Amino acid sequence: MVEAIKIGNISVMPGEMKRGAIAIGKNMYGIERELPVIVYRGLHEGKCLWITGSTHGDEPEGPFSIKLLMDRPELDPAKMSGTLVLVPALNVEALMDGRRGDPRDAFSYDMNRFYPGKPDGYPSERVAWAFHEIASKYADLHLAIHSGGDHSMLCRAFFAPENPESLELGKALGPEWDLALTSNVGGTGNPTSVFAGMGKGALTVEHGGYCRCLTTEFVEVCMKYVNGYINIMKHYHMIEGESVYADKWYRGHQIALLANASGLFVGADVPLREMIKKGTVLGHIYNLYGDVLETLTAPADGQVFGLRYRPSVIEGEWCCFFGAIDEIRNDLMIAGKSK
Ligand SMILES: [Zn+2]
Repeated sequence: MVEAIKIGNISVMPGEMKRGAIAIGKNMYGIERELPVIVYRGLHEGKCLWITGSTHGDEPEGPFSIKLLMDRPELDPAKMSGTLVLVPALNVEALMDGRRGDPRDAFSYDMNRFYPGKPDGYPSERVAWAFHEIASKYADLHLAIHSGGDHSMLCRAFFAPENPESLELGKALGPEWDLALTSNVGGTGNPTSVFAGMGKGALTVEHGGYCRCLTTEFVEVCMKYVNGYINIMKHYHMIEGESVYADKWYRGHQIALLANASGLFVGADVPLREMIKKGTVLGHIYNLYGDVLETLTAPADGQVFGLRYRPSVIEGEWCCFFGAIDEIRNDLMIAGKSK
């Protein structure tokens, strides 16, 4: 006897698609707040893939790429295997305000730092916990969709713990995603580390930012994600079709290039996501007299995968997301050493 998958207020049987919600507590109007959830359960057994957007509320690429995915004809439960669970926004309060965290929750602001939260914690911790209780029960694979949000443009990078399940998921993203920033398995604080610690496949995927949300550019940004989602579903035989892969992967680790001066950061003419040499000039910070206060350079051979786009910067803020490349792998799934 096949059992229903129960997520929030819905029960889903094979061959069904349902919309529902996970309750996360009432607001002051006395109305229950809910996280929207969409479930496609294929007729046949298979992997359970969760895609979660807007853990950070200034990153709308998750909800819109999920909308574009739902437009695809491949998402037909009668032809699918396994289950696809879509959670367009994990932090709806933050998304409503367009900010990284819930502006009313000063004590648990960044949901990607205190995940999985607690049932009796601060407001955002309770939201994370309500999601985690259900997702950890059903998910084999979890994709957390992120971007540069309110500060930066990020370009097709993913963070992967070095467990085989997560590396396979990274490979399955397809040829547009060949920058793998890997880490040791273990730790808490974000969904990727928590799910990988449970032996699941989990990635934090980064592409886009507010500076690319105007007009059809936003659609183009989100389509990079949709291509990845479709390729992943093919790879795990959730939908029909041949999956495709990168020829090679640039495996490295992130180096945070923070401002050591306050002023205007203006990036140099450096291509995103191409190999550059250590010492290449990445940008300058100018004061209001026009003097150069700091010149940022590449700290290693590697790739710039993100740049601050809002010029105003103070000491300690992000300027550049740099991927120091440790090796080029022909097979991402053969794990190596991580930093
Ligand atoms: Zn984020």
